[in-house]
Amino acid sequence: MIQTEHLSKTFRAEEVETIALRDVTIHVPPGEFVAIMGPSGCGKSTLLNILGLLDAPTSGRYLFDGADVSAFKERERTRLRKGVIGFVFQSFNLIDDLNVRENIELPLLYMGESAASRKKKVREAMDRMEISHRVKHFPRQLSGGQQQRVAIARAVVARPRLILADEPTGNLDSRNGLEVMNLLSELNKEGATIVMVTHSRHDAGFASRVINLFDGQLVTETIL
Ligand code: ADP
Ligand code: MG
Repeated sequence: MIQTEHLSKTFRAEEVETIALRDVTIHVPPGEFVAIMGPSGCGKSTLLNILGLLDAPTSGRYLFDGADVSAFKERERTRLRKGVIGFVFQSFNLIDDLNVRENIELPLLYMGESAASRKKKVREAMDRMEISHRVKHFPRQLSGGQQQRVAIARAVVARPRLILADEPTGNLDSRNGLEVMNLLSELNKEGATIVMVTHSRHDAGFASRVINLFDGQLVTETIL
């Protein structure tokens, strides 16, 4: 499903150059659940953002479904992402002024789905994430666990084939964290490919393979 070849990423801010990724080559076949681990600042989010087509590499290749998307401009990346990739952030990234239903509906609106189809899919995603009783609530009225369930509902409402999650349990207590991991695990069993960044060995145990990054480089891979 996704493959990188000698991927590197350098950020330039003013005079300062940061090499965030160096020569990263990975292959994630369809249906796999991969965890990415490593110390803070080692490039995990940078890699996930590139895999999620939120950013582009400086050099090397990124192949998505076999097609080289490395040089895609932002507009082409956005088009390719739609309905195919769902992204879950540690900080939820919900829109404060939209209620639960409106937040979850956003990807479907961007995809131009009909009102009837949006209604059906939002209802299914809310039932699935057990937040249907909060449909009219705004993010600030929800607990952290509820906010992350809304964020996951938004990430999966269009039934993406690839789910990327950046420390999805990082801001949750252990009970809510376990619920989120169970949900991701279920989505994987139903066929979604998942790449998840985590600091937690426990969460990584839900994956079938752990990729360890250090200072922008892939250091070890462990098959679980
Ligand atoms: P991690 O997620 O593993 O903590 P990141 O991928 O966020 O690490 O960051 C890797 C390195 O790249 C860090 O040194 C970070 O400061 C730098 N970096 C990340 N994003 C940017 C950016 N937009 N501009 C400049 N430097 C960045
Ligand atoms: Mg990060």
